[in-house]
Amino acid sequence: MIQHDVSLRGLNTFGLPSVAESYLPLRDLAQLESPHFRTTPALVLGGGSNLLLRENVPGLTVHVLLGGVQELGAAAGAGSGTGTDVHLRVGGGVDWNQLVRYTLDQGLAGMENLVLIPGTVGASPVQNIGAYGAEVADLITAVHVWEYGHGARTLRPDECDFGYRDSRFKKEPGRFLITAVDFRLQRNASSVNTSYGAIIAELERLGVDQATPADVALAVTNIRRSKLPDWFFLGNSGSFFKNPVVPKTTHERIQQDYPQAPSYPIDTDHVKLPAGWLIDRAGLRGARDGQVGTYAKQALVMVNHGGATGEDILAFSSRVQTTVLEKFGVNLEREVRLIGG
Ligand SMILES: Cc1cc2nc3c(=O)[nH]c(=O)nc-3n(C[C@H](O)[C@H](O)[C@H](O)COP(=O)(O)OP(=O)(O)OC[C@H]3O[C@@H](n4cnc5c(N)ncnc54)[C@H](O)[C@@H]3O)c2cc1C
Repeated sequence: MIQHDVSLRGLNTFGLPSVAESYLPLRDLAQLESPHFRTTPALVLGGGSNLLLRENVPGLTVHVLLGGVQELGAAAGAGSGTGTDVHLRVGGGVDWNQLVRYTLDQGLAGMENLVLIPGTVGASPVQNIGAYGAEVADLITAVHVWEYGHGARTLRPDECDFGYRDSRFKKEPGRFLITAVDFRLQRNASSVNTSYGAIIAELERLGVDQATPADVALAVTNIRRSKLPDWFFLGNSGSFFKNPVVPKTTHERIQQDYPQAPSYPIDTDHVKLPAGWLIDRAGLRGARDGQVGTYAKQALVMVNHGGATGEDILAFSSRVQTTVLEKFGVNLEREVRLIGG
């Protein structure tokens, strides 16, 4: 069952050369009773779309391939008055985008804004995936985990410490392996989330008046395809850095040179700055060092032009961090997780 010296090149969206010392595919919950799940592995691997892999991953890599989509039952929408709640339990290894497509085919609303995000269902709570005005935490009703050292457990959303691209699973790496996630969706929903300006503009362009979840998914798909590279052809991990949250005074200082500098309010004293804008204005959009660079259409995305290693990407990303720090006094924190040695 365990394999040794397994190449992970085809299992990460950067397409980085990396070798797992030991590799174990997890396809069945019964495997959790084996001695391999008594101690924390080096890496719990999903779709490899939020990882920066170095050339060697010592120790055990567990690849979560648990499947299954199960409807748990329907109930009148709690207080929403708009539709019927439908509860799904989905295996941690299910492909996220395939799940979104499945729910749309079933006439279920809730996941449409999160279409086309790569990766697995089991990883979706880890960084609380979000896009276009929606976050997965708003749909999650339970997270089923294998807690290393303890066993199987179910966590309620309030036990997951969800935040912006953050959760307990991210803060405590190695403690939990997510086996399945429960979601609450809606059948016959009468409204969709078009809070994100670009969605409204795209729906107008498509000539859609009363948008359905499928219309929103199409709009988001079009926007994403126009802005993000397809990792199959140009290796990348989506947003490489988090959007930094800074004191308002930092934004005001930046506005002295850039009056149009964008920001999003967080609380009375803090704002979020778009990291892509900072990298762009630091002159690094489309920049390239050997086989690594930033994407010409979106500076927040680092790309592997072919043949780069994790070390190459790390070195280039450090250059980006230093340049942005020197120019704006703002620290960029990596969103992707660095693995291996
Ligand atoms: C082109 C592109 C676009 C993207 N767009 C977005 C976006 O719009 N919004 C967004 O939020 N993200 C985005 N991402 C990032 C990425 O898709 C998400 O973070 C995704 O949830 C990662 O899933 P994965 O299965 O690939 O996880 P992996 O990369 O395999 O792992 C990521 C982390 O989760 C952990 N993990 C994985 N599976 C499990 C599990 N079953 N149990 C416990 N821990 C686990 C890993 O150990 C690791 O720490 C994008 C990435 C790419 C390449």
